[in-house]
Amino acid sequence: MSELPGIVITGVAGRMGRMLAQVVAASDKARLVGGVVRPGHAWAGQDLGLAMGGTANGVIVTDEPLEAFARAQAVIDFTSPAATLEYAALAAQARAVHVIGTTGMEPADIAALAPAARHAVLVRAGNMSLGVNLLVQMTKKIAAALDEDWDIEVVEAHHRMKVDAPSGTALMLGEAAAEGRGISLADHKDSGRDGITGARKRGDIGFAAIRGGDVVGEHDVVFATAGERVVLRHLATDRAIFARGALRAALWGQDKKPGQYDMLDVLGL
Ligand code: NAD
Repeated sequence: MSELPGIVITGVAGRMGRMLAQVVAASDKARLVGGVVRPGHAWAGQDLGLAMGGTANGVIVTDEPLEAFARAQAVIDFTSPAATLEYAALAAQARAVHVIGTTGMEPADIAALAPAARHAVLVRAGNMSLGVNLLVQMTKKIAAALDEDWDIEVVEAHHRMKVDAPSGTALMLGEAAAEGRGISLADHKDSGRDGITGARKRGDIGFAAIRGGDVVGEHDVVFATAGERVVLRHLATDRAIFARGALRAALWGQDKKPGQYDMLDVLGL
């Protein structure tokens, strides 16, 4: 048993953190060896199983990430951009695989991960599910086949607590469409329309976000031209799909060279 890779989960009290704790604890391919919370969090020092409202599992929650990472072969991190940057440096110090599900990272944040990736394996994806990563590939192919007479729009829906928009997944899909079309998303992104916006600009990739209730995550990629529309759709109904993908990435990364990877690498797509 002790041969199995040890996994630490950061932001373990969060929505994804709790789901990850359940998925890793139930896995026969990994051991749950730690849970990290932000400094001073009420769960620090408590048994994780009890804190989650179940039975004791012997994993003590800590607010000292480095001490936890030093005991692990992988860190699974679905938190916030600021926390993820801090954890990247510490995971690299501990030579642990760092699986990053955190979204809302700016280009400067992503650039700041480079030093960590010189020493450790980083796997980062705005969406860790198999279905969405297949959708990314299909989006790229369809965008490559269609010219600018076809308008591309990404429409997403999430629960009311989500703090960033467009979602990390919507941006992944937009990047895939831009790549397929051979353009830069930064130069063609149109998001947050409001008021007298004028007509849609030919060649732009548009984004729209719906927020409400407990929606886990829904994404449509719409290709629209005169007289017809193609719509690719992914509906997530259970956060476990992201947790299972993240665990798969943590295991996949064990024998890889330091560097930055994504879920397309993990899934071999
Ligand atoms: P959440 O708010 O429920 O949980 C976030 C956790 O991170 C909380 O426990 C919070 O205390 C902790 N945290 C935040 N800032 C911190 C800091 N500075 N230091 C220490 N801890 C900190 O959110 P969630 O729904 O679990 O989502 C978390 C992240 O994962 C978001 O960015 C979300 O978009 C992303 N997400 C990614 C995927 C994917 O497949 N890549 C899927 C779902 C969610």
